[in-house]
Amino acid sequence: MEYPGNLFVIAAPSGAGKSTLVKALLELDAHLMVSISHTTRQPRGQERDGREYHFIDEASFRAMIASGDFLEWAEVHGNLYGTSRQAIEERVSSGRDVVLEIDWQGALQIKQLFPNAVLIFILPPSWEELAQRLLRRGEDEPEIISQRLANARIEVSKARNFDFVIINGLFETALFDLKTVVHSQRLKYVSQQRSKSAVFAALELI
Ligand code: 5GP
Repeated sequence: MEYPGNLFVIAAPSGAGKSTLVKALLELDAHLMVSISHTTRQPRGQERDGREYHFIDEASFRAMIASGDFLEWAEVHGNLYGTSRQAIEERVSSGRDVVLEIDWQGALQIKQLFPNAVLIFILPPSWEELAQRLLRRGEDEPEIISQRLANARIEVSKARNFDFVIINGLFETALFDLKTVVHSQRLKYVSQQRSKSAVFAALELI
């Protein structure tokens, strides 16, 4: 599928710091927009419907699957998560760069649909640090944390299927790395041709 905007897909095991990195990236870059997923998970802490996620029940989620409303969907840690087809198609066709913060299963589905999508995997610096971060976050029950750590072993092994890998040891370094990936994508010939069409026309490059 051809599309005018860049599509960045960011995955990581929970606790790797993905959401914080993506939030910082979006604050720095007005040309990026994030897609808000649908989920059957219950809201945590300060989360609000329509801001972090569209929180829906399983019957509604299954109905959306049946209607083909999702570009991709997956079960993660026992809950269902999906990316709305309409939201993404509208955004990328309007030329905006879009960030999808989804799990590895969804990322690989997106790559099938959009071969130009840029897949970025965020790794923790070690298993110990990942466990510490999940404990410090204090948002989940101990059984949930153990389940997330066990899942992290599988998730991390999928990093090899991604285009870029960022190790989130020092936050500032990881943020710099993420900005660099986004920036390099925008410097590719096709992206420049699209976003700087007047310059390309003046140089008779079109
Ligand atoms: P959390 O419950 O911690 O917010 O998210 C759990 C996992 O589900 C994270 O890896 C998150 O990126 C992923 N996720 C969030 N939205 C989607 C989505 O729309 N599709 C898929 N496949 N995964 C998602």
